[in-house]
Amino acid sequence: MKPPESLSGIVRGLHHVAIAVRSIDEARAFWECTLGMRAGEPEVIPDQGVRVLLLFAGEQRIELVEPAGENSPVTRFLERGGGVHHLAWSVDDVADAIRRLVACDVRMIDREPRPGAHGTTIAFLHPKATGGVLMELVEDQAGA
Ligand code: ZN
Repeated sequence: MKPPESLSGIVRGLHHVAIAVRSIDEARAFWECTLGMRAGEPEVIPDQGVRVLLLFAGEQRIELVEPAGENSPVTRFLERGGGVHHLAWSVDDVADAIRRLVACDVRMIDREPRPGAHGTTIAFLHPKATGGVLMELVEDQAGA
């Protein structure tokens, strides 16, 4: 079934699903060897206290997220049981998406775009706005 065309279209599609792990180096074998997914290069994002690894299955992406540094928010998440950490949506323009969501009274963690992994620009919605699920908006680098 085709989706209705009258939707406002902030979100273009699912960019990735992120899973919190204690160690990317230990966890990646399952994704690469068992599931046969292709891995990118790990990248530390100091601003967020995380190290991430993107894995690809066709057009779909999984992001493994590992704590980096003493006060990583992912450490607390893992202590509470871990699992799916956030969903990320592709958008054309993060700044515009933030403006439109704020105009709809959506609670944001980031009211300004910030740098994400691999040259992306991102912003997080507050889980209180989404039924308890942390959500990220991702604008890919131009031409990526
Ligand atoms: Zn993410």
